[in-house]
Order: sequence, then structure tokens, then C-alpha cells
Amino acid sequence: MHAIEAARLYFDKAADHLGLSSNMRTLLLVPEREVKVQIALEMDNGEIGTFIGFRVQHNSARGPLKGGLRYHHEVDGDEVTVLASLMTWKTAVVNLPYGGAKGGIAIDVRKLSATELEKITRKFVDEIHDVVGPDKDIPAPDMGTNSQVMAWFMNQYSKYHGFSPAVVTGKPLELHGSEGREEATGRGVVTVTKALLERSGRQLAGATVALQGFGNVGSFAARFFHDGGAKIVAVSDQFGGVSNPAGLDIPALLAHARDNKAGVKGFSGGQSITNSELLAAEVDLLVPAALGGVLTAANARDVRAKFIIEAANHPTHPDADEIFNQREIVVLPDILANAGGVTVSYFEWVQNQQHFRWDLAKVRQELDRIMVESFDKVWTMATEKHVSLRTAAYIIGLGRVGRATVLGGI
Ligand code: GLU
Repeated sequence: MHAIEAARLYFDKAADHLGLSSNMRTLLLVPEREVKVQIALEMDNGEIGTFIGFRVQHNSARGPLKGGLRYHHEVDGDEVTVLASLMTWKTAVVNLPYGGAKGGIAIDVRKLSATELEKITRKFVDEIHDVVGPDKDIPAPDMGTNSQVMAWFMNQYSKYHGFSPAVVTGKPLELHGSEGREEATGRGVVTVTKALLERSGRQLAGATVALQGFGNVGSFAARFFHDGGAKIVAVSDQFGGVSNPAGLDIPALLAHARDNKAGVKGFSGGQSITNSELLAAEVDLLVPAALGGVLTAANARDVRAKFIIEAANHPTHPDADEIFNQREIVVLPDILANAGGVTVSYFEWVQNQQHFRWDLAKVRQELDRIMVESFDKVWTMATEKHVSLRTAAYIIGLGRVGRATVLGGI
């Protein structure tokens, strides 16, 4: 099944509960604008490089469009469209005054120099600067991009439109970024996981965790899980995996991955494991924090975790989701679980608009408040309607976007 059809299944379950007409469904599903541009440049070796860049602006009924910019060799238009729609529901679930968008460039960042990445980013801005902007569409980091890419983006955009720090979020602290933005997605993941465990009569301290992905989201999630007393027994990334039933030494693993060009691989404090072994680990919490589509009908029956925390965007295929529901494995859905990143992006944008800085304590306090309140709303909806947390989150998200659309007028 294609990613677009898969996303449609989740959407339809909630739309059925809301009694949305088929015309309304079409309106909410079709992106407002899809931009596809050529990015041509001279590579370091003097040859011409040509790449394709995308920006899909899904829905702006609730405010300016918001969503990350992904640099990954698997980026394609359909994938970006699905990710853009997830941003619409995500910003609505945590009630930020934004719509949803996503961008991407099909490149393998590991094969490009910093100079080439900078040129690609600046050329991309040259092509799309008219359709983005602080009150139009605000990109942010995603897989393969970081604060440096955001700094180039802001700088290039400002050449056309004047000083505009609020055109992107996730910028470096030295260039109008926010305290706590880098850690935000990982922190939010752990905050909602803690709330979920408490509502389920359990606690984070002592819970065992298997974590797939050790990039920005995975590494900060690991740190906060560790600080909260959870025991991380397995971690994998694109290079390999490590496990230790007694619990991995997370500060040592973070240091190893930072100093080692091959991620967690070769860490001396555990045995090596494969990715499929990690997904089947006997743990309380399985946390996919990397690519989409990793949990499928083919491996869903192997999963032995009690809870799946979707730190990645759309890691679970609907067939797998159905199996987890039948097996009473609780899935905390992406549009809630990983919403901490865009939430602190919102704080960064607010600070940029007001030219006023928040300290880390304020960022964390506001983030935790929004995540816990949003979790409570989703939990209550799921209990009242007897639906999964995913369907409950979609009911809240779609309901908010639908009402804004009707109130604004078509
Ligand atoms: N890329 C992140 C996401 O998927 C953050 C988006 C943002 O901060 O705008 O939620």
C-alpha cells in the first residue's frame, strides 16, 4: 500500500466519527499548493549537479503553514505530501495557530560537502522564496537538516525580503534560534510517554525501552528517558544496533556516537543486534525514532513491547496498526508523540516576532504544559469514543481544521 493510501485510512477513521461529507474530506485532503523545483549547481568537482526540491503546502485554515525541510535520498513528492498532511493534524492536535506543510530535497547528505549543501539550500530558497515567509509558510529542520541549514535559509531569504528571522525555526542560538529547540522533540516524546504510563497505572522509572534511531530525536529522547529513570536496553541507527539487558550506559553511548562516524556501532557497553531484533525486543516501550514505514504487517506480530511510541513520522503501517490494536499494544501516535519539535518552533517564532528571548526554563515549562494538556485531551477522547489514541488524535485534529475551514468560509 502506498503512503498516501495509508495516511488516508487513518484520516477516514476519524472522518467517519466526525460524520464528514465526502466533499469535506476532499477539501481537507487535497493540498493547497505543491511546488516542485529544479536545483542546479556546480559541484565541488566542477560538474553540474541537478536535484529536485519540493514544498507541499497542505492546509492553512488555522494559520501560516508550518513544517520541516527534509534532505534524504528517498524524498519524493508523495512522501512529502503525506508528511505535509501530518503537519496539519499535528499542529491542530497541540493547538498551535498553524497549518501544515513539508519540504524536501532528494539528496544523500552523506555524499555532499558543506559547500555543496549550502549552495543547494540557497538555490532552493531562490526558487521558493515567494511562497514562504514569516506569515505564509515557515520551514524548520527535519531528517537530514539542522540549524546550519536553517541559518543559510534565513540568510538567503533575507537577501530578497530584508531581515526575517521568523521565516524559519530551528535556527542556531547565535542567529535568533530558541533555547530548547534542539532537544524539543525528544523531550516532548518522553513527556507524553510519562503521561501515558501514568494514565495506564505504570511509571516511567524502571520501564524498559528499545529505541530505533539515534539522530536528533532519538538521542535527546534517550537522554530524557535515562534522566526519567527508564532503562534503555537496545538502540539502533542506520549503521547498526547495540543491546544490554542490564541497561545501556546512555551518557557513554551518546559520547561514543558523537565521536564515532558510524553511530552506535562498535559501542563496547553492549552486544550488537540487528534492526529486526530491536523491533522484536521484549520491552515495555518500543520507540521508532527514525524513518517512516518500519512497522508493517510482516513484523507486527513479532513486536513484544506493550507500548509503541511514534517518535518518527508515520512509522506504523495501517495493517500493523490494526494488529497492534487487536493485540492490545497501545500506540502513541506520531501527530501527538513527536509534536514537541513544532511546539518549540512555535515558541521560537513568537520570540522572533516579539524580539524577546525566553530562557530554557520557560521553554521547557510551556512545552511540558502543552504536551500534557494535549495528551489529556487525546486520552479523554479515546476513552469517551472507545477508539485508539491515534483515531482520537485525528478526531481532535480534523475537527479543529474542519471547524476553522467552515468558520472562515470557503
Ligand atoms: N520536522 C519536525 C516535524 O516533523 C518539526 C517541524 C517544525 O518545527 O516546523 O514535526
